[in-house]
Amino acid sequence: MNAEEILSRIEKMVEPHIAIWDDPFRILITGILSTRTKDEVTDRASLRLFCRYPSISDLASADRGTVERLIKPVGFYKKKSGDVIMAAKIIGERHGGKVPDDMDDLLELPGVGRKVANIVLSEGVGKYGLAVDTHVQRISSRIGLSTSDRPEDIEMQLKRKIPRERWNEVNSYFVEFGKRICKPVNPSCSTCSIRKICNYGRAHEDSS
Ligand code: SF4
Repeated sequence: MNAEEILSRIEKMVEPHIAIWDDPFRILITGILSTRTKDEVTDRASLRLFCRYPSISDLASADRGTVERLIKPVGFYKKKSGDVIMAAKIIGERHGGKVPDDMDDLLELPGVGRKVANIVLSEGVGKYGLAVDTHVQRISSRIGLSTSDRPEDIEMQLKRKIPRERWNEVNSYFVEFGKRICKPVNPSCSTCSIRKICNYGRAHEDSS
């Protein structure tokens, strides 16, 4: 079974994860806030932030202390406050107020790494991206689709194995699959339809 067939099997087991925002600006800013922070905390913080600062230009001229108060308790909220304001300023000054649709331009924004850039590309601007978060990392490793601990290596390995037109499906399905079936602790291997070709599943056949 190749990687594309594995993806298809996973898509039959779960619904895709749906992001709470659908415009590139909010996807980008929520992505910056999300690093090392639980989804529920990030979602509540971004909601408070966008109620007060609904547009890129609003956020570019925001008061940093106010942003800190709005996004707390996300992890590293002080640094992230500066990052989101500066990102909004750069988008206004260098990109005409439009979130860039290019990986290199996105990576120049403060607080943006490959994971967030790939999420913006795939979910925000209609391009192809494959974001590697903890779920994608864990599941790929367990199945045997990746052989590295480095997210960038995993991204490249998956991109080589999965056709480009399906990259955007990977993160949204793997996130739900990772929450519901291939959980960090005690994965539900006995109910998983790819167990026979999964390294972890085969190695733990007696334990679940
Ligand atoms: S068999 Fe187990 S470890 Fe492998 S993908 Fe399925 S749930 Fe995850």
